[in-house]
Amino acid sequence: MAILVLGGAGYIGSHTVDRLIQNGYDVAVVDNLVTGHRAAVNPKARFYEGDVRDKEFLNKVFDKEDIEGVIHFAAFSVVPESMAKPLKYFDNNTYGMISLLEAMNAHNVKKIVFSSTAATYGEPKQIPIKETDPQVPTNPYGESKLAMEKIMHWSDVAYGIKFVALRYFNVAGAKADGSIGEDHHPETHLVPIILQVAAGERDQLTIFGDDYDTKDGTNVRDYVHVVDLADAHILALKYLQAGHDSDAFNLGSSTGFSNKEILEAAREVTGKPIPATMGPRRAGDPSTLIAASDKARKVLGWKPQFDDVHEIIKTAWNWKETHPKGYDDRKGN
Ligand code: NAD
Ligand code: UDP
Repeated sequence: MAILVLGGAGYIGSHTVDRLIQNGYDVAVVDNLVTGHRAAVNPKARFYEGDVRDKEFLNKVFDKEDIEGVIHFAAFSVVPESMAKPLKYFDNNTYGMISLLEAMNAHNVKKIVFSSTAATYGEPKQIPIKETDPQVPTNPYGESKLAMEKIMHWSDVAYGIKFVALRYFNVAGAKADGSIGEDHHPETHLVPIILQVAAGERDQLTIFGDDYDTKDGTNVRDYVHVVDLADAHILALKYLQAGHDSDAFNLGSSTGFSNKEILEAAREVTGKPIPATMGPRRAGDPSTLIAASDKARKVLGWKPQFDDVHEIIKTAWNWKETHPKGYDDRKGN
């Protein structure tokens, strides 16, 4: 039987498809390539180009494939864009989930692993953040993902569709051989932007705010390597295959790095000066986000291999150096 990966041509999805194939799974991918790349998908996976919200298309894929469970990455995830265009986010993300669960229910597929996010917590009341802490998103992106968690909960109650919601913290890095990596347009994440400066594609990094209540005034985040994250999805699938109940897990390293520390680490890894300037705060940025991720370690048996940000940045730099134009598949702009 196959695992269906929605959004499998994206950054995290493509690394997960790759790990699934390496672990002997039969994999089918659905992606409309709105932000993903066809070349990122392991050639051993069957690829269906289409939109999760297109029920006719999705039902055809479910008819054709013998699907045991799904992993759902397909979503928009740029916070400032979600502030300006909330309906775009509720349509693609939240409605996309409804469409997927309908197809799953119609085809008696009862297992889903879902990309949730630290953004569902909003401004944390305590650090590290536990899975049981209040979820009060401060932007439409986080709200769209929290709604997806709730829709899965009620679909479990009504139809017995079991879910694992994986709440990622900050994801970075690339496959060690540099064959797949992060390629977003426009790029908004800190690590790839820093590496664009290192590669001479941008003049400088602007650090968004140095007046936070943190060790050096800049935001503190919890970084996890994309391949460690991918492996957590396989463990979550196994957890559901073993008949366990629906649940949510944080995925982070439980260690915080400030934006200045990440910049410093990138300077060491690349050997480049990486000019940087201080700018104003970015709207909606919580001061510090660090995950309590002992639950994923204990319950899922998750053992992240990368516990050093230098190593994480090294793999991202390897991808950047070997693929200066990313997947080089952009039409126009
Ligand atoms: P990405 O944009 O690289 O990947 C998303 C993929 O989904 C793309 O290939 C895109 O083409 C596809 N897609 C989007 N809407 C679709 C639709 N309606 N139908 C079919 N395909 C569609 O993003 P990513 O960084 O790989 O993130 C993957 C998931 O992880 C997202 O759901 C995101 O919210 C979540 N997440 C990411 C991070 C992070 O740091 N990157 C952190 C927390 C959560
Ligand atoms: N950041 C920054 N400059 C940039 C991009 C990001 O200072 O050009 C900061 C951002 O304000 C946050 C941290 O880097 O404090 C991580 O941001 P990112 O967008 O990578 O992830 P987020 O934490 O928002 O999910």
